[in-house]
Amino acid sequence: MALPNYDFTAAERLMRYVQIDTQSDPASESQPSTEKQKDLSRVLVAELKALGIADAALDEHGYVYATIPESEDVDAPVICLCAHVDTSPDSSGTNVKPILHKNYQGQELTLPDDPTVVITTQNHPYLKERIGDDLITASGKTLLGADDKAGVAVIMDAAAYLMAHPEHKRCRIRILFTPDEEIGRGVAAVDMEKLAADFGYTLDGGERGYLEGETFSADAVTVTIHGVSAHPGYAKDKLVSAIKAAAHFVDALPRDRWSPETTEGYEGFVHATGISGSIETATVSFIIRDFDTAQLAVHEARLQQILSESLQAFPGCTADFKVQEQYRNMKTILDEQPQVMNYAEAAYRKAGLEPVRMNVRGGTDGSRLSFMGLPCPNIFTGEMGIHSRQEYVSVQDMQKAVEVCVHLAQLVAEGAKENRVD
Ligand SMILES: [Zn+2]
Repeated sequence: MALPNYDFTAAERLMRYVQIDTQSDPASESQPSTEKQKDLSRVLVAELKALGIADAALDEHGYVYATIPESEDVDAPVICLCAHVDTSPDSSGTNVKPILHKNYQGQELTLPDDPTVVITTQNHPYLKERIGDDLITASGKTLLGADDKAGVAVIMDAAAYLMAHPEHKRCRIRILFTPDEEIGRGVAAVDMEKLAADFGYTLDGGERGYLEGETFSADAVTVTIHGVSAHPGYAKDKLVSAIKAAAHFVDALPRDRWSPETTEGYEGFVHATGISGSIETATVSFIIRDFDTAQLAVHEARLQQILSESLQAFPGCTADFKVQEQYRNMKTILDEQPQVMNYAEAAYRKAGLEPVRMNVRGGTDGSRLSFMGLPCPNIFTGEMGIHSRQEYVSVQDMQKAVEVCVHLAQLVAEGAKENRVD
């Protein structure tokens, strides 16, 4: 069911929002990491207020909170719709010039400000499914920033629809716009009590129909190898090089499996991300990833086994093996509350889409929020080719995502009534 006679605003909003530079900065210690992210957040607050959402406000940490009140007589769970305002530090976000390509016909899109940037169906097979859509790209010198301003625009458009259509039954919606998602600090200072939602959805996914309720579970491991230093001229039978031991250890790791470059789908991996050393001390850093949280310990035990076997070649060397938890697969939480995914699937179907449950080979703000008490899968927005100058988004994908949000509000409002015992 489409939204009858509704003039969607998501595309127009996206084209405006991407022109505001909101790049986050991993080297910054401040919260938010860059002040300029608030430039967009302030615009959003003003626009929410203009829609009649009186409590919209930006807090000192750079979060926007706002409430779409529930319909009269609705006593239902409160849902959160969440998107991030920052863009990736991997590609410039300054002076973004969005271009609308109407009625895309599968042709190569050469971007005018740098003709070496060409978006083709060969590099982006998903485009073959978007023939006839209107696409938005950047102009060649920057990323577009549809990640995640498509999500921001979708939520704003859904809010505009709901505020203009009070007859459309809805649960209470808490809108949350976060900074610093791209540098992994997106939810660090979210006030869960103030948010006061029962479950939520991030609008930060790619292809139409995808619904992501599963992420990696993640640990970091730091291996510190201690050697024995001596004057090199008089080191015979004394010196034990931590550098050589570390190199031997890394070399002992399998090359045909167990790494990011050799795994896909549901396979986990162990990934050496850094190495540094001197004669006395060498450090090797790893990230450990698996969808099955219990497997992390298995990977870690195996890594430790390879380490101790490797060190046998270096008598006198010792090592520390330190494991640090990073994040956990949100599926654990979502399995306990199946209604969260079920409502989303029902909303997809109501929008005429067959939901495709996908896993994310990484973490999302939603995986952290899920463990902070807000079960939070990820809904598509159409953002594609992200973190690059080839980034694009389909206007019709964004509009479908708006529909999904609007249906979701109604399904939660009605579902709860059916389930109510009183
Ligand atoms: Zn994103």
